[in-house]
Amino acid sequence: MGETISGWQLEQWIEQADAECAALGISPSEVHWFLQELGGLDRLTLRLQTFKQQPTIPLGVPWSELTQLWQRRLSSRIPLQYLLGRTYWRHFALKVCPGVLIPRPETELIIDLAVSAVENPDNNGIWVDLGTGSGAIALGLADSFPMAKIHGVDTSLEALAIAKSNAQTHGLADRIQFHHGSWWEPLEFLQGQLTGMVSNPPYIPSDIIPTLQPEVAQHEPTLALDGGNDGLDSIRHLVETAPRYLRPGGVWIVEMMAGQGEGVAGLLEAQGSYSRIKIIPDLAGFDRFVIAYLK
Ligand code: GLN
Repeated sequence: MGETISGWQLEQWIEQADAECAALGISPSEVHWFLQELGGLDRLTLRLQTFKQQPTIPLGVPWSELTQLWQRRLSSRIPLQYLLGRTYWRHFALKVCPGVLIPRPETELIIDLAVSAVENPDNNGIWVDLGTGSGAIALGLADSFPMAKIHGVDTSLEALAIAKSNAQTHGLADRIQFHHGSWWEPLEFLQGQLTGMVSNPPYIPSDIIPTLQPEVAQHEPTLALDGGNDGLDSIRHLVETAPRYLRPGGVWIVEMMAGQGEGVAGLLEAQGSYSRIKIIPDLAGFDRFVIAYLK
């Protein structure tokens, strides 16, 4: 602590780190993010590069520690979010660890979809987040439906511990009940009662996983990614089982990947219990969600 470096030294380091990111296909925005989180540098100083004029820059942690951690990021390809132990999702700072999928920005939209799916967001309905992981979706639902009761389910005890801690941090612990089990297993008592089911299940076809960037393929939990041969194993299960738990008119919302929209809509259609089936794109224009209502 109390260590400083010169503006010139920092400029050189940023230039080198940017080049390393470019060579490895890592987003260069990580360099600024890293310095904000660990170096104690603020966003504006980095953006406007006013640090260049500073002869000495005070750092949050010793420079040697900082550069070592960066080297670890690059050589192990461990996601920065895991190194920091946190990420940002909607307006939440969330604790994450290698036992949970890092919540993605594209998933943020699932909360807005849930809100626009119901007529009165203040209703005191019951919502579930199946495969809650870090608890991100459960927290988003609790925050957007202030009168609702939220249930989050996961088979991973490690994930549940993180999810509970995140709910605690954001003052939502009394609004969300977390359960250990596979999909609906711990929710038998809710049959026919749910206003909505929301899930970001594993949906990546097994043979694609090894081809993904090393941050995902080597460090994120396979349990949260692997959707079997065609990627649709978990989604198929949710299509088949949700009608027992949703109330009439209850909403079914699932995330998937581009190219799966027609397949998922077809499964819902064939099941026969759903109406108003719709494929919704993410902000990048890729099919990302499917929404349907129990008849
Ligand atoms: N969207 C994640 C990814 O691209 C996958 C998440 C999932 O399978 N639910 O890595």
